[in-house]
Amino acid sequence: MTARSHSGGKVHVVGAGLAGLAASVALADDGRRVVLYEARAHAGGRCRSFHDSELGVRIDNGNHLLLSGNRAALSYIERIGALDTFEQPAEAAIPFVDLSDGERWEVRPSRGRVPWWILRPSRRVPGTQLRDYAAALRLRRVGPGDTVAAVLDRGTKLFRRLWEPLAVAALNTSAEQASAALFSRVVSETIGSGAVACRPMLARDGLSESLVDPALDYLSRKGGEICFGSRLKEVGFAAGYATELRFDGSSIPLLPHDDVVLAVPAAIAARIVPGLVVPDDHAPIVNAHFRYETPAHLPPFLGIIGGVAEWVFRKRDILSVTVSAADRIVDRPAAELHDILWRDVARALALAPVATPPSRIVKERRATFRATPAQLARRPPTATAWNNLHLAGDFVDTGLPATIEGAIRSGVAAAGRITRRRNPESATVGPPPSATSLPTTTQDCEHALP
Ligand SMILES: Cc1cc2nc3c(=O)[nH]c(=O)nc-3n(C[C@H](O)[C@H](O)[C@H](O)COP(=O)(O)OP(=O)(O)OC[C@H]3O[C@@H](n4cnc5c(N)ncnc54)[C@H](O)[C@@H]3O)c2cc1C
Repeated sequence: MTARSHSGGKVHVVGAGLAGLAASVALADDGRRVVLYEARAHAGGRCRSFHDSELGVRIDNGNHLLLSGNRAALSYIERIGALDTFEQPAEAAIPFVDLSDGERWEVRPSRGRVPWWILRPSRRVPGTQLRDYAAALRLRRVGPGDTVAAVLDRGTKLFRRLWEPLAVAALNTSAEQASAALFSRVVSETIGSGAVACRPMLARDGLSESLVDPALDYLSRKGGEICFGSRLKEVGFAAGYATELRFDGSSIPLLPHDDVVLAVPAAIAARIVPGLVVPDDHAPIVNAHFRYETPAHLPPFLGIIGGVAEWVFRKRDILSVTVSAADRIVDRPAAELHDILWRDVARALALAPVATPPSRIVKERRATFRATPAQLARRPPTATAWNNLHLAGDFVDTGLPATIEGAIRSGVAAAGRITRRRNPESATVGPPPSATSLPTTTQDCEHALP
């Protein structure tokens, strides 16, 4: 047996969001035969682009910010050859404006892990003291039931101007409810790791162009099958194994060495896998996309304090606004949201007064699970009670919030588990096999719906 031969059969990956794509890419790289099933006619799940006929442009379902410290995402992007589809500002700087007093600043972490930047008053968030930052060391000793607001001093400007906006953006949960342990992990992997981990990475043309389409191309080149319109209804089980995948109108028997990665959203996984406990409380994200010719001098993105809008992202002809943990506004009519959010954006970017430009409001009511201590306790591991059935998805217990990084890590973890089980001497998913060793066509999926 060579180092790259396997006793395994096919791997059936269900769900072509980032978790399923990451699992498929890692497994295909490891020489496994991968079949990827997706219920819809497109891949990407909650992280994708589409053409908006009203605005006449392509938009993302929601702004997604990646940082260079998102190492699994970076490695996935490199592997699918999409690094050059990202804009990476030369400096690790996160710009902010406070609408209550018009103050502007940038958070620019020091190069290494030691946060020298907080020693210089000119580099600190305006209105903050060194002792405020020192108090954040409490994040290192938090218990599983602690929330961000209970651990950090919510009366300080540092809380209002840095910790709260970062926690809400990363955890999609209010600071009063968000798990301090999860936030601590995010801080440690980003701002706490210095500038090297904080360079923003912005998908230049769109999320699909950067994170989804290159992965599908990559899979096709590796001989993977991609089956759109394939909605998994049930899995058959017997003697500790998944034995059959049942789709609308067709079923696929699983052979003894086949594996399944279930990479569907939490609620759907719980319907398919008996007894599976998953997070069951979700938080909304509202995005507003304004059709607006953006002057090139504007920052590529900006954090907004003291408004309803929280972040604004600039693209060529679109300004996009994000509001996370958006329970307080999600039920308001789109026409109202247009005006409220545009007012904040125009002030934040100091735009010349114009009527609200044409816009599209995208409400993702179940954007991510709510990252409260109680919900975290419901996250399942990759492994299931069935030997050949593995979970992936941003809800799986990766130790990270429901993010691109979390979803990709969950997919890589599922792939790694399969590789270790089938090929115990291999510790990690290995490097790509030579291009000639695998078939290069995408085959048809007989069971897919028309
Ligand atoms: C508006 C918004 C903004 C966000 N902003 C950020 C951000 O700035 N940074 C960040 O890191 N993260 C952000 N996130 C979170 C990130 O998008 C998600 O964590 C990630 O995309 C989840 O990927 P996933 O593969 O786990 O799940 P999904 O993307 O939900 O993928 C699951 C896939 O399974 C398919 N499926 C469902 N049922 C079936 C079935 N029965 N059979 C077959 N297929 C099925 C679905 O169609 C879907 O394609 C944001 C999310 C939203 C919604």
